[in-house]
Amino acid sequence: PVFLIPEAPDPSIMDGHGSGLSVAGVVMEELRNLLEARNRHISKALSIAHGKPLHIVRGEMQYLHASDGTKYLDLVNNVSHVGHCNPHVVEAGQKQMAILNTNSRYVYGGITDYLGRLSSTLPESLTVGFLVNSGSEANELAVRLARSFTGNHDMAVIESAYHGHTGMLIDLSPYKFRGPGGHGSPEAWVHVLPIPDTYRRPTIDYSGEAMEEMKQAGPLAGLLIESMLSCAGQVPLPSGYFADVASAVRNQGGLLIADEVQVGFGRVGTHMWAFQESGIVPDIVVMGKPIGNGHPMAAVFTTPEIASSFGGMEFFSTFGGNPVSCAIGMAVMDVIEKEDLMSHAHTLGERFKTGLNSLMQEHELIGDVRGRGLFLGVEMVKDRSTLEPAATEASEIVDKMRDQGVLLSTDGPLHNVIKIKPPMVLNHEDVDRTLFELDNCLSVV
Ligand code: PMP
Repeated sequence: PVFLIPEAPDPSIMDGHGSGLSVAGVVMEELRNLLEARNRHISKALSIAHGKPLHIVRGEMQYLHASDGTKYLDLVNNVSHVGHCNPHVVEAGQKQMAILNTNSRYVYGGITDYLGRLSSTLPESLTVGFLVNSGSEANELAVRLARSFTGNHDMAVIESAYHGHTGMLIDLSPYKFRGPGGHGSPEAWVHVLPIPDTYRRPTIDYSGEAMEEMKQAGPLAGLLIESMLSCAGQVPLPSGYFADVASAVRNQGGLLIADEVQVGFGRVGTHMWAFQESGIVPDIVVMGKPIGNGHPMAAVFTTPEIASSFGGMEFFSTFGGNPVSCAIGMAVMDVIEKEDLMSHAHTLGERFKTGLNSLMQEHELIGDVRGRGLFLGVEMVKDRSTLEPAATEASEIVDKMRDQGVLLSTDGPLHNVIKIKPPMVLNHEDVDRTLFELDNCLSVV
């Protein structure tokens, strides 16, 4: 949908004294002007979130304040990992910006301290990091590294995955190339593995089908896979799957690339990186979104051998790893560690899951509750035996929740999975309030 411009202010919201608009009228007039400007200057290819335009004027930890005075609880922004406008992160960025901002061809402590800190959270073989500006840039670099290291070109990905907006990554994102405006089928060099979805396909040998697909594919540069699936419907990987696909891609001469853009930095509650639960060490790990708490940055970590496979070609990203980004990234790590946000995510995730499971007892519409830590999915179905997806109902619930001041959204190939991936500074009251509102909304849908 493009931007829906509200009608001109209704006379009922004029102040009634003939002296102009009331406060509500002014707010609406401002929104109209902003939407008109968006229509003029922003491509129609960019839609607006939450089904209606929200004019957000301020962020405050897990909350967003709108121009009409509404305070929204944000349950979808996993970028603002340690909270919107977290004061420690803001201060770190401001301070560094006033001291020095240059690029990574100069020597400064910030970059090596930061890379060392990130590396210390990873398996010991992954010591070399590249700092870039977005998840797309990081995934693009990861695939280039895999191709140059292996000498192979083909790649495997999971059905419905999204890995980024660059030309190569659209080709590696079934979510995009099979979606509106996409070319439909994969390029010959892209091999798509089925979603290992234990809810919709409970009796399948997920590892077996993925291994067979990769065998058929022939030589591979790599498998690009999220350590827990996001766009594919908030799907945790079945036990043993990561290990099996790791050996399958390596048998084809390829590398295992873990995309941790959505699920990294302690969100899953038990580990800093979602892949760690599997015990498998990927060849390349890609980090993004939460890494800078909203500051545009991302990273690729790998082994020294893979990192030096460009055959003499230089690597340089003008902004990647600049001192301001490093200071911000460091501050994000400080907050995660000092406030023990990883175990907080675990505690709150369990509280959420217990509540959602009891809502499932009462409301037939909930077919499945899944996820780890603060990365959860609630799959809506019209019928628990046929699993007929309840996409309309799911988005109706999301809209109703928004009207109650709670921001959620839907995902999954059938658009029927409500996703929960809030800033990690959420509290118990936020969880309980969400469950209470969800119970009410489910009762009237
Ligand atoms: N990988 C995953 C799993 C993502 O969800 C995204 C963004 N939604 C990206 C990569 C691309 O990141 P960016 O938008 O920062 O380029």
